[in-house]
Order: sequence, then structure tokens, then C-alpha cells
Amino acid sequence: MKRFIILFFALFVFNNCVTEAATQYTESKVTTIGQKVLTENNLPKEVTFNVVESETINAYADTNNNIVIYTGLLNLLEKDEELAGIMSHEIGHIMKSHCYKQTFFKLALSIIISKITNQYAAVGAEVASGFASNKVSREHEYDADYTSADLLHKAGYNTLGLISALNKISDKYIDVLSDHPSGDKRLMALYDYINYNYPDDVKKGYSTNSYKSFLETAKTTIDKRNNDSKTYEKYLNTQKKLKEKRDKAAQKMMKTNDPWATGYSTLMLMVGSEN
Ligand SMILES: [Zn+2]
Repeated sequence: MKRFIILFFALFVFNNCVTEAATQYTESKVTTIGQKVLTENNLPKEVTFNVVESETINAYADTNNNIVIYTGLLNLLEKDEELAGIMSHEIGHIMKSHCYKQTFFKLALSIIISKITNQYAAVGAEVASGFASNKVSREHEYDADYTSADLLHKAGYNTLGLISALNKISDKYIDVLSDHPSGDKRLMALYDYINYNYPDDVKKGYSTNSYKSFLETAKTTIDKRNNDSKTYEKYLNTQKKLKEKRDKAAQKMMKTNDPWATGYSTLMLMVGSEN
């Protein structure tokens, strides 16, 4: 079971339309950036960063705190912040024990299904389990994106690096499992989170073509939000509720002795405190 690996980052398939200059990040550079995020956030250092030679555009974390990134994805990254963003997203999964939760969840469901003797009921349960587990993994993706922004900020990186990185891959993967949020929705949710919690980053902007192209695509939505008072009110409310939910989760985690949980709680106390 321990070796059971859950892919969190979807199966990204290389798309020839991507024309960004390829930058090679070695395993040692990936480790340096990953460890910097851990150190600056007072998190445990026992994470292994691995680079795998493959054109697959993918990265994932497993239950043994290994983070794996494929060269197909690395080659699309131009800046340290983008790489730090991807690493922080995976660290976010480790911090919140998403790997364990999903493994446990799927195991529990498979036991339930195996106990159903009626074949039609079994088919129904399997379909339902598919939907339920997909919903769990979608929520985990959003959660890891927000946590990534928090980790990046505390490590001194511009949080927009994650948007820039995700925009290069979000509409280019073949979503075989159908359990990942659609690219546009996911990027907009992350942008809103950053805009609310780290407005200075948004003011500063980000120089990559990828970020600029995201802004062009999102312009109508952002303009509407800023100019329509009802939409703006809704955005403020959503972000306020999200912050409350994340603060509550952090307080719960603070009560445990898990060093990952303590690190996360400390991080959450910082979110928004500078605004
Ligand atoms: Zn993920």
C-alpha cells in the first residue's frame, strides 16, 4: 500500500503548440528550489525530489514524501517561481495528507463495493464511487493550488509564478480520469485567491508570455468582477468564506503533533495578515 502512488497532476500530454523556450532544470536545481520552499516555511526537510526523463508533462507526490517531476514538464518552465510553484503544489498535497486520504478513500470504497453481492448494485456503487473520489481529488487540487500560493509567498517568490506554470499545461492535458478541474476554472480560482490575499503580486504582474496570455483570456471575467458591484461583492464573500474555512482547518491541524500540520497552521496565520 505504501508504494501505491496517486497521480495528482493529471496526465499531461505534450502539445506541440507550446513554443516557450525550453529550460533544463537539473535534479539538483529542483532539489534546491524544493528545499528552499520547505526551509522558508519551517516544514520538515524529509522530502525527496526526483526528476524523471520522459516527455510526459506531469508531476506528482506519493505517500512516502517523494515528489516526482518529468522532464516534459520541466522543459516548459522558464523561471524559478514557476518550478517553485509546481513543487509547492506537490508539497501542499503532502502537507494536507491528500495522498493518504485518497489512498484510504479508494481502499474503503473498494471494500464496500466488494461486499455488494448484487451485480447491479455493485455497478451502481462503482459509478458513484468514481464520482465521489473524483470530487475529492478535485477539491484537493484547488486546495493544493491555494497552499502553493501561500508557500510561495512565504518563500519570497511571486505567487503568479504558479499561474504562469499552470497556464502552460492546464488546457493541454488529456483528462483521462476526468477528475481534475477544468483549466480555466482552476486558474481563475487561483487568481482570485492571490488577488485577495497577495494583491501586491497582482499589482506587480509577471513577465512571462504565459501569464500575459492568461490575463488576456481572463480579462472579461476580471473586468466584470471589478466593475459590477454585485459580482465584486460575491467575489469578496467567496474569498472571505474560503479564508475562514482554511483558518478553521489550520486550527484543527495545530492541535496535532504532526510537524507538517504545525508548519501549515503557522503558514495560515500569516495569510492576509500583511494586507
Ligand atoms: Zn495536484
